[in-house]
Amino acid sequence: MTWKPQDGAKPWAASILTLFPEMFPGPLGCSLAGGALKEGVWMLETVDIRRFARDKHRAVDDSPAGGGPGMVMRADVLGRAIDEVHRAGDPRPLIYPSPRGERLSQGLVREMACGPGVVVVCGRFEGVDERVLAARRVREISVGDYVLSGGEVAAFSLLDAIVRILPGVMGSPASLNEESFEGGLLEYPHYTRPQSWEGMGIPAVLNSGHHAKIKAWRRAQAEKITRTRRPDLWASYQAARGKACKKDE
Ligand code: SAH
Repeated sequence: MTWKPQDGAKPWAASILTLFPEMFPGPLGCSLAGGALKEGVWMLETVDIRRFARDKHRAVDDSPAGGGPGMVMRADVLGRAIDEVHRAGDPRPLIYPSPRGERLSQGLVREMACGPGVVVVCGRFEGVDERVLAARRVREISVGDYVLSGGEVAAFSLLDAIVRILPGVMGSPASLNEESFEGGLLEYPHYTRPQSWEGMGIPAVLNSGHHAKIKAWRRAQAEKITRTRRPDLWASYQAARGKACKKDE
């Protein structure tokens, strides 16, 4: 069944400001996200930042004040582009993907999926003039502690993670609840046919048909994987569980 926004309700809408509009929809035009885009479950608008350059070379960048390597995206060009797309009263958050930003998490993805959409300003070169970030109250979001060559790849991660949890996009909403991070744990291991592959079988409990035992096994596996691979997640999971137990007392 395909979910469509109710009559009069606006679909979740993303606007992407970029110097490379031809990159979009790219991966977002395939598979679940692409199908949902065609169905009108969400909308994607790309805006070419270069359209807002006014000088004869259509320059969007200039050398950094104070010297140093690389180029910086100009405040005036970017300001005009933002003001055309993110008009007064637009309820969508204005986002700048940046290594300096708040780290993208499933919680943040959920928060943005519950909202009306996002406006994403993709940086290039050394980044953007700081005055734009301050004047337009931009929220900086990082996809991890490494440096990409542009915000577009970060925007793909952000949008992909959001779109797949919009109502009507995933085939089975139940599978969302089981996933990594949703319960504060990494996911348990999966198996499918064939029963035996390169001499390796499938854990016997998964063939037992005993649902409670399967559930308990999966939970134990998820806990073990989280404890060994991500002590940071494990600590917050335990803290949250501790709180929940105290509340129950
Ligand atoms: N000089 C900057 C990096 C610029 S990379 C610095 O050292 O912080 C060019 C653009 O890529 C940035 O403007 C940003 O939009 C994007 N980008 C790079 N790494 C990113 C990351 N980890 N998360 C989100 N966006 C990133």
